Amino acid sequence: MTDPFQSAALNEYQRSTAQLATSKDSAATLKKSYERYDNLIAKAIDESPVKPACKAGCAFCCHYKVEVRAHEMLLIKDYMSKTFTAERIAAVLAEAEANAAIIRTLTPEQHLTTNIKCALLQDNQCSIYPVRPFRCRNFHSTDAAACEQSHNDPGNMEIATGMIEDVAMFADAHTQGFEAAAGQTGRDARVYDFTTALLEVFNEPNAPKRYKVGKKMFQNAIEVK
Ligand code: SF4
Repeated sequence: MTDPFQSAALNEYQRSTAQLATSKDSAATLKKSYERYDNLIAKAIDESPVKPACKAGCAFCCHYKVEVRAHEMLLIKDYMSKTFTAERIAAVLAEAEANAAIIRTLTPEQHLTTNIKCALLQDNQCSIYPVRPFRCRNFHSTDAAACEQSHNDPGNMEIATGMIEDVAMFADAHTQGFEAAAGQTGRDARVYDFTTALLEVFNEPNAPKRYKVGKKMFQNAIEVK
């Protein structure tokens, strides 16, 4: 019998590898991959007897540590540049600077257990929702009360927020498939801290140039090992 994880990961890997191999525009390929992801997850949710408790306006998880890949951050910058005002971008970057000053004092373990509001969370809604990274897409919960409890007690790693097994499995498989395709086609597939990468993609004009030639895109953002 076919392993559904292997099958979903391989399917995405093959499709994205083929698209990335013939296109210099990884952002366009990533957008298509997000569309396939959304369809895959919608189907998994549809087929599950248990449903996620997530809804607009509930954003406890947007205070967690977030990780991002270089191609995801390029797409986010492009989206913000096209849809945000200059004032709004400046405000986001100022908030990100303040967050980064805290994050740089934390160990990875401390960062995991510290609430820091994402600079892109506005009025309890993600302001880059269509291009949010895989790490944000992959998070879901079946228990909103547990999310609130975890938010109020961030050091307590015993609180289980509840995930739907097949949704988590397909999300992980698809994500791994795309990330393997990015690495296989010579892209920077390292994992970076979201906040420090956001600052660098706006403040360091050479970052996208480094990505284009297959180099490590971020020099100052925290790399997550
Ligand atoms: S990018 Fe959006 S979904 Fe992800 S943590 Fe920030 S506000 Fe939340």
